[in-house]
Amino acid sequence: MWVGVGMKLFEEKGNCCGCTACMSICPRGAIRMEPDAEGFLYPQVDDEKCVNCGLCKTVCVFQNGYEREETEPKQTGYAVKHKKEEVREASRSGGMFTAISDYILESGGTIYGAGYGEHFKVIHKCATTAGERDELRGSKYVQSELGNCFLEIKEKLSAGEKVLFSGTPCQTAALRAYCGEKLRKKLYLVDILCHGVPSDLMWQEFLRLREKELRGKVEQVDFRNKKRFGWQAHHESLVVKGAEYSSKIYASLYGRNMMLRPSCYQCIYTNKCRPSDVTLADFWGHEKAVPGFHEDDKGCSLVLGNTKKGRAWIRKVLEEIEWQEVTGYPYRHSAMRRPVEKPGEREQFFADYRENGFSYVAEKYGDYRPEPYIVIRAKAMLRKLGGEKLYRFLRRLYRGIKD
Ligand SMILES: Cc1cc2nc3c(=O)[nH]c(=O)nc-3n(C[C@H](O)[C@H](O)[C@H](O)COP(=O)(O)OP(=O)(O)OC[C@H]3O[C@@H](n4cnc5c(N)ncnc54)[C@H](O)[C@@H]3O)c2cc1C
Ligand code: SF4
Ligand code: SF4
Ligand code: SF4
Repeated sequence: MWVGVGMKLFEEKGNCCGCTACMSICPRGAIRMEPDAEGFLYPQVDDEKCVNCGLCKTVCVFQNGYEREETEPKQTGYAVKHKKEEVREASRSGGMFTAISDYILESGGTIYGAGYGEHFKVIHKCATTAGERDELRGSKYVQSELGNCFLEIKEKLSAGEKVLFSGTPCQTAALRAYCGEKLRKKLYLVDILCHGVPSDLMWQEFLRLREKELRGKVEQVDFRNKKRFGWQAHHESLVVKGAEYSSKIYASLYGRNMMLRPSCYQCIYTNKCRPSDVTLADFWGHEKAVPGFHEDDKGCSLVLGNTKKGRAWIRKVLEEIEWQEVTGYPYRHSAMRRPVEKPGEREQFFADYRENGFSYVAEKYGDYRPEPYIVIRAKAMLRKLGGEKLYRFLRRLYRGIKD
């Protein structure tokens, strides 16, 4: 029988990133991941099953420290754009993930990355074909649920298979610790520079709010609509009954760091010592670092080769990409210098959410402004018929007349 909270695996929530390594390593199946009131998963130990072997505590790199890879001068940085336009369009930045995962697929390996489950829940998934891998492209600004991925991956590695795992640095570092150095040879690790993650609960609340307003089920999501707004902008888009609706409701709360996991405010991976073979990022600041390299606002990746294996892997895909080597500049990324600051209002945000619901906090702390359905529809039609530029021009005109 499941007894519930027993042995404590962390002193405070900020010390646990929810990586599932402890659950995966437990030989007695005594740990399971349970959501708290903010929707973040934490391990809970069943004291009746636990035999005090201590493995769960030993494997926790978020608390014990992680295996740091070589840094400068060996770490190599590249500005990257995939040569195929359609790949860049479907990717968050320059499409490097597609290039390096294509290489693993071609050599018979399996890819793990963040895709979608029921009602666009963000979960880690396995892909063995390019078609399956395509779902893993694009940034999803939610903590991805790992489920039993670590167990599956260890099995594959033990059978001699090649595996690419991509995720946040806390996920890649945890997987590496869980698998151990013996199985590391065929494990290809890719981390993304990470600003932090909200919980599935907040994401589902946002989707429900929009479904109510838009009077239909969400059919498609895009956390950052690059096609319409360009690479630099941050607007989410949803498709409901075949029509596309964009907003900055979720993006504004995310950007203000209001609903991130407590561990993100004290993240140990915000430095240049990466836990993976390759690191991928948006190349903010490319204008100064690699002038003239990226001028169409369609996306440019910053790619770091952190290990010998990672650098060799990048060299294998150079044919697929446009690239330029960069030095020094990458370390200006804030996600490689310090964790995000916890806003003073964060706890109040969740207290208000519990008391008054998501629409209340979205309006109070974010950019949500409720509108009648007819206005939302008219705006969507205008955008569709006239395009983004005409829509923005008319909106400015309307505001000018109103003021
Ligand atoms: C939560 C989050 C925070 C980020 N913060 C920063 C930042 O601070 N600075 C910055 O420069 N870039 C940040 N990024 C963007 C990241 O750098 C890009 O995903 C990266 O540039 C890859 O671009 P691409 O075009 O090569 O790959 P794409 O083809 O877009 O591939 C996306 C990759 O990201 C992984 N991924 C997507 N969503 C998640 C998720 N929720 N959890 C784990 N893995 C995920 C996929 O598995 C895939 O490997 C963030 C992305 C996410 C998801
Ligand atoms: S191993 Fe991961 S999930 Fe378990 S306590 Fe440590 S950080 Fe939390
Ligand atoms: S001490 Fe051992 S048996 Fe107990 S929860 Fe941790 S890993 Fe499982
Ligand atoms: S900020 Fe750090 S703790 Fe939070 S998801 Fe990213 S890597 Fe994990």
